[in-house]
Amino acid sequence: MKDEGHRLETLCIHAGQHPDPTHGAVMTPIVLASTFAQKSPGQYEAYDYSRAGNPTRTALEGCLAALEGAKHGVAFGSGCAATTAILLGLRTGDHVLCGDDVYGGTFRIFDKVMKQWGLEATFMDMSDPAMVKAAMRPNTRLVWLETPSNPMLKIIDIAAIAQIAKNAGAQICVDNTFATPMLQRPLDLGATMVVHSTTKYLNGHSDVIGGAVLTSDDALGDKLHFLQKSVGGVPSPFDCYMVLRGLKTLGVRMKQHVSSARTLVDRLVKHKQVERVFYPGLTTHEGHEIAARQMKGPGGMISFELAGGLPAAKAFLESLRVFVCAESLGGVESLAEHPAIMTHASVPADVRKTLGIGDGLIRLSVGLEDEGDLADDLDRGFQAAAKA
Ligand SMILES: *Cc1c(COP(=O)(O)O)cnc(C)c1O
Repeated sequence: MKDEGHRLETLCIHAGQHPDPTHGAVMTPIVLASTFAQKSPGQYEAYDYSRAGNPTRTALEGCLAALEGAKHGVAFGSGCAATTAILLGLRTGDHVLCGDDVYGGTFRIFDKVMKQWGLEATFMDMSDPAMVKAAMRPNTRLVWLETPSNPMLKIIDIAAIAQIAKNAGAQICVDNTFATPMLQRPLDLGATMVVHSTTKYLNGHSDVIGGAVLTSDDALGDKLHFLQKSVGGVPSPFDCYMVLRGLKTLGVRMKQHVSSARTLVDRLVKHKQVERVFYPGLTTHEGHEIAARQMKGPGGMISFELAGGLPAAKAFLESLRVFVCAESLGGVESLAEHPAIMTHASVPADVRKTLGIGDGLIRLSVGLEDEGDLADDLDRGFQAAAKA
């Protein structure tokens, strides 16, 4: 299929994929070979060695690039490997301006790994573009942001920040893991590159760790492919196949994730044991207007503050039978977790407090189970929390 002009739901299923010329197989073959025969020394068609390139990976990279409206897709063995490859493209003495509530693993790469190599990063709330502009330094080479953010689902104005970065000659990278290209396309809004943990919604079945970077900048695309083969954090052909398979249902999955999340949010806002609900679809949410402008839907992630603090939150999470208490997100199964103890435990307590990650905060990844069963499960949690 030619990818030109098709809509996202169609691209999910076909982009980057062509019936296999050998047998006409409709599904992309998993090419496990590490090496490829050469007709004469140095003479080969597309592939010589699977770290440098692999047909199953090429199909995945093509599909992801098409979905984000990018010219180049570069796949990695994890979201963190994708992030690291981007940062390896910077130099000692460069400065990165980063959102203050980015994924904990991203923070750790900046704080514990890249710092040793002389890469400087500052973390800030990017809700106010004027503050971002003021924080740019002459050596700021990259602006890094996540929207909606985790776990507070803060919204950042991608177009406004992209303009600031562009004016300062810096690149801007948006981690689009929470929204997926079905709901938000950062490159269309001016971002230089998009990074994904394909582990989450894109694969969607909680059985792969993977990542990718998408960009339309030719020089950056070449550089990332060079870093991919040089540093070698590549995904296995099997994992590439799994993500391709997951992507086929991304369109329908995202519609249902959003629809079920909206249903649960309607119940949560009315519940007397709920102090606050964080969801970009709520008109009362701080970033609602920007979200409505830059997103096609508010997503499948919800955070809420449960009355009764830690004992109530623990009782709530222990009593759930449909939601699984686990880290991660974006799978077919619903997950519930306690950010302060689980996903955000490495964030210092005082920083958690400023970010609003309290002891009663619960984060939900709304899956694809029956909405009524999910609602009943939350009721079970509330009953247990009331007795705690
Ligand atoms: C999970 C996640 C990552 C890291 O991805 P891995 O695949 O676990 O390495 C990065 N960003 C966000 C927003 C994530 O949720």
